[in-house]
Amino acid sequence: MSDCCSAPGLLPFEQALSDMLGQITPITETITLPIEQALAYVLAQNIESPLNVPPHDNSAMDGYAFAIESLSKSNVLTLVGRSMAGSPYQGECKLGQCIRIMTGAKVPEGFNSVEMQENVEVNEQDITFLQEKSYGSHVRNSGEDICIGQQVLAKGHRLTPVDIGVLASLGIANVEVYRKLNIALIATGDELKLPGRELTEGDIYESNSYVLSAMLQKLNVNVIDFGVIRDDYQLIKTAFEQADQQADAVISSGGVSVGDADYTKDVLDELGEIAFWKIAIKPGKPFAFGKLPNSLFFGLPGNPVSALVTFHQLALLALTKLQHANELKRTVLQVTTISELRKSPGRMDFQRGILTVNEDGNNVVSSTGAQGSGILSSLSIANCYIVLPVEQGRVNAGERVMVQLFDEYLR
Ligand code: AMP
Ligand code: MG
Repeated sequence: MSDCCSAPGLLPFEQALSDMLGQITPITETITLPIEQALAYVLAQNIESPLNVPPHDNSAMDGYAFAIESLSKSNVLTLVGRSMAGSPYQGECKLGQCIRIMTGAKVPEGFNSVEMQENVEVNEQDITFLQEKSYGSHVRNSGEDICIGQQVLAKGHRLTPVDIGVLASLGIANVEVYRKLNIALIATGDELKLPGRELTEGDIYESNSYVLSAMLQKLNVNVIDFGVIRDDYQLIKTAFEQADQQADAVISSGGVSVGDADYTKDVLDELGEIAFWKIAIKPGKPFAFGKLPNSLFFGLPGNPVSALVTFHQLALLALTKLQHANELKRTVLQVTTISELRKSPGRMDFQRGILTVNEDGNNVVSSTGAQGSGILSSLSIANCYIVLPVEQGRVNAGERVMVQLFDEYLR
């Protein structure tokens, strides 16, 4: 914190993040779910393959299976049977013989190669092989995708659609996963009206809970939405107490900046152990984190861009840890900016950018324009953050900058 460039009293972003993560203990309760219900849950077990995939050698082509040794005497083999997907050939493999085989059908013991049907001449039972073949051609080997006993997925992994298919391909019908988190959302402010209602003078529409709820759905949690709570001490206190009883974590937006007119801070001070931080990031800055009697608490700033960015960059990582999931890894790239970027030293900026490919095939980033913390549309048109370090000043077009690609929570 003795950094000469950070304004006094501001907490470096990395420190806020590590302080917060240090206070999170992952949940331990697990449930067993059928795989078709397990999408986006976090695995509570390692998955080892109970079988080889594919389980037997099988044909990659419609054609004829034979033992390669047979072709050393003659290129005409005798057709003795057939192997179809689901009903394999039951006979033996003798030299000089071949069988009809279809894609995916078992290549029986002794047969070791397949020729595609386009490359043979069929004359009743006499099959003439027109091209030279090598051992194993067009045969998919047992276990070539996954071997028996191989670890396929690890504890802490969040299941994707493809993973569900992989589990099915292994014959695994149920998996042990961590239970869903319950997350309460509270918006505070007398000026906030719900969409669908009419605005009176001085009002604005409440949007933070909508963004957060949508992002939380992607995190696969149960959202308990407390809606908008008016700036009234007792109402706020009751809402926080109820939220704390029902949820693993309570997330509020608004009312955490110094000098705020509402009672959120007073209530939180009374109910729990909450730290009110001023983090050296832009947008963001005011952010509260701590513990209520039964739950974790995240207090996001009220401004929509600040609320979203602090949720995405801080709270989401904490909730991921609470879920017992692997750490979120964001993709960062060094690219050239084609816009001039306004910035003063003192805070780390998460400016909104649009990453494109120029005529030379290189990645370049441009600014979305005005970067005010209330301009939510800037996040909607962006596809990345331009992350500018604390000490950075103005950036000229043509300079290299770091961008962080938007992940699935923002898209
Ligand atoms: P506050 O931190 O409560 O002073 O709020 C800062 C700014 O964010 C004010 O302009 C609020 O009107 C606005 N704001 C607070 N909560 C929300 C919300 N849930 N949705 C949209 N804007 C909000
Ligand atoms: Mg407020």
